[in-house]
Amino acid sequence: MTIRFAASASLATALALGCPPAGSAAAAADQPPAAVPPAALPAAAASSAPVPAAAVAAVGREDMETGIDPCVDFYRYACGGWMAHHPVPPDQRAWSRFGALTDANRGKLRDILAVDAADAKAAERAHPDADQQKLGDFYSTCMDEAGVGKRGVAALQPDLERIAALRSAAELPALLARLHRAGVSALFRFSAAQDAKDATAVIATVDAGGLALPDRDYYLKTDAKSAAQARAAADAAAVLDVETTLAKASLDRASRRDPLAVYHKLGRAELAALTPSFGWDGYLAALESPPVSSLNVAEPDFLKAVDGLLRSTGLANLQTYLRWQLLHAAAPWLPSAFVNESFAFFDKTLGGAQELKPRWKRCVEATDGALGEALGREYVARWFDPEAKRRTLALVGEVEKAMGRDIADLDWMGGETKRRAEEKLAAIANKIGYPEAWRDYSRLAVVRGDLLGNVERGEAFELARRLAKIGKPVERQEWLMTPPTVNAYYNSSMNDINIPAGILQPPFYDPARDDASNYGAIGAVIGHEMTHGFDDRGSQFDGHGNLADWWTPADEAEFKRRTACIADEYSAFPAGGDLHVNGRLTLGENTADNGGLRVAYQAYEASRTGKPRQALDGFTPEQRFFLGFAQIWCSNTTLEAERQNVRTNPHSPGRYRVDGTVVNMPEFQQAFQCKAGSPMAPEKRCRAW
Ligand SMILES: [Zn+2]
Repeated sequence: MTIRFAASASLATALALGCPPAGSAAAAADQPPAAVPPAALPAAAASSAPVPAAAVAAVGREDMETGIDPCVDFYRYACGGWMAHHPVPPDQRAWSRFGALTDANRGKLRDILAVDAADAKAAERAHPDADQQKLGDFYSTCMDEAGVGKRGVAALQPDLERIAALRSAAELPALLARLHRAGVSALFRFSAAQDAKDATAVIATVDAGGLALPDRDYYLKTDAKSAAQARAAADAAAVLDVETTLAKASLDRASRRDPLAVYHKLGRAELAALTPSFGWDGYLAALESPPVSSLNVAEPDFLKAVDGLLRSTGLANLQTYLRWQLLHAAAPWLPSAFVNESFAFFDKTLGGAQELKPRWKRCVEATDGALGEALGREYVARWFDPEAKRRTLALVGEVEKAMGRDIADLDWMGGETKRRAEEKLAAIANKIGYPEAWRDYSRLAVVRGDLLGNVERGEAFELARRLAKIGKPVERQEWLMTPPTVNAYYNSSMNDINIPAGILQPPFYDPARDDASNYGAIGAVIGHEMTHGFDDRGSQFDGHGNLADWWTPADEAEFKRRTACIADEYSAFPAGGDLHVNGRLTLGENTADNGGLRVAYQAYEASRTGKPRQALDGFTPEQRFFLGFAQIWCSNTTLEAERQNVRTNPHSPGRYRVDGTVVNMPEFQQAFQCKAGSPMAPEKRCRAW
């Protein structure tokens, strides 16, 4: 019910947000098992024989708009054709190469999941082990729309009665724990995570939460569009009251990017002093949490506000709020009247989607959310070529080397800081494809015919799994994304990069394509994740994953000056009608885009040493590199979704991920022979890495 990745991975930075509505971790996608690879991605393999031009789809020419001058708007030059031919499908808020691949992967996951629900024997044959039985039961129960309709709100009734039976604030903690276990994130979020200052320890965390709308801005911004949306969202003044109070007390997203701003380790006595009206003992007992002696209270002021709310808000209003939060979380798994109502506001009004996604897509996403590694294991077995893993690892090695050279060559950084940066780079762990050890789902019960119960048990299982880590050694092999996910992430507490199987296919990686495009696409993705270790946020963590300053004051001041240049650059980009990109919210991603493209370029150039320069499809190798990069970001977005993204998404819109990045590279100007001063070759450039 919560978007798991966002909720859990507070210290992880993803490549892109797929914008999955509430319901599942970002689902993922893959293409056919690319009839295995002739041309080699890494330099090692890019060996001897020149690739026959006929076998190489170097550039997606049909995706380009060649009438546009690449020096004026490279994004449109590279993607104009794609944009014209791929309008946003009615069931989506946006459409992109990421989205198309994710959708294709959903189709593959459906093939894995779809068995005749009515034929139990067939199900047994298709699902010989316990995990597979659970997958089949979960999915077929979800697909049984008639059955869900017949059950009505019966599955919700016990919790509705518990809320109605609430007699005092003293009874709230146990009830709230029960709702939290079911995935209802009322009032605040409770979980576990690595201690930012001691990456060897997992501690409990309590964080801001409790809002139904996508961001605090929706409650607090007074412009006409936001205010209308907020009023429509809350059909009860009581709910709007409670949520606005919580929104006011929440830090804004850009401020939350400062790791020190969300780190306040408190003992139990300090926690109790902060929230005298809330009985934590009862809460933790009902949550079935392991003992908690200290925890990170990400936003102490927020918890204070929760406490104030408990004292000032009448019981009846609290009950209304809890009922709403419960219904909001459960709506996608209830009969169609609830599903449609939830869609109409959260996806259509706020996101610009015109139609509800087909049920099978929603059910694939839900199954991925609850049993993602069981499903992912099947996905990997059927669709992931081990050769893709080997080649990606080799490419990671090359990009890492390029990054090492980049650090060594920086003229603005002193030797002492460089040495620490190099140590951190060397310590990055590279995880490719899928986890070494698969998650054990034996304690998750899946009941045929009980969709809401299955989703809630999935949430409870996940929370219990996380809380069980408290006080235990950190599990370094764990993944925060499922294998079919079309995305990637860097985690600063783990100091690792994670590239799921789902993204290792066209247009990101294609063994049949020439090297230039692959370095520009998946090479830049790898460089992006690596650079996250050194963006404005990641650079505050050392190679062991600890929040610790390893910069000399002079180097730090210069780094801040350089990242401020990037923040200002992107803040000037208009987006979502009358809004602008928030350069501070997107600074980490933009820094990663810029550094990532640069090191991928350097890796590509290094791989070409001694090789002939060969034009393909009329493009030089360097031009193909930049086109390969740009074309992964081709996208169309509804105005509503773009407005929401500008407020909530730490990534810039696709067009600026391309144009905002290439303008900073003289190598781009050279590749396309742009006149100095043209829009893509400005005099003023920004560069951190
Ligand atoms: Zn990123």
